[in-house]
Amino acid sequence: MEKAPKGRGSRARLRAHFLANISKIMDSEELKAVAGNKSEWARRVRELRLEEGYMILTHNDRSDLRPGQYLLENPVPQPAFERLISKETRALVLDRNGFTCQMCGAVAGEPHPYDPSRKTRLHIGHIIDKSKGGSDEPSNLRAVCSVCNEGAQNITLIRPDLKQLLIQIRRATSADQIEALKWLISKFPKQAADEITVRRELQNS
Ligand SMILES: [Zn+2]
Repeated sequence: MEKAPKGRGSRARLRAHFLANISKIMDSEELKAVAGNKSEWARRVRELRLEEGYMILTHNDRSDLRPGQYLLENPVPQPAFERLISKETRALVLDRNGFTCQMCGAVAGEPHPYDPSRKTRLHIGHIIDKSKGGSDEPSNLRAVCSVCNEGAQNITLIRPDLKQLLIQIRRATSADQIEALKWLISKFPKQAADEITVRRELQNS
């Protein structure tokens, strides 16, 4: 039998092990054993992350992980382009989009509206697809959650029209209406302030 190219065997074993243990925290001892006690196991894990796009998380990504702990939550590798985006561009796009998925409105870190068991994780996607001539410039990038990113756009809700939306808000509890108000004020502080000014002037005239 031909010998596998150097490193290929242990990388494949590590990949299979991560995929068989989605959302399970693993430590370096375990991964080293999976890699056949090869000393380069950590480099193979890095390759899975950087070359294959598996979002293997460490204590650098998540405060609840200790050094030497590894975790894969999403079996779908990230597209190559996302691995090449600088931290600065990523931060800029996420900030501009208010850490909210631009397809379904899910907010980073909160339970996902279509699958509350999942925490919303945001990725960077193209507005105009690269295949249609879209660029990697920040102006063509947007925040997209992992659910939408995995092609589940078809299950995402249709954007409500104003009439439906107002009906829903009017039927909500006062406490929820105030939450909605606070959210709108934080999203549109200038418009909220202007609106209050206009109303005051009307009252005083
Ligand atoms: Zn989404």
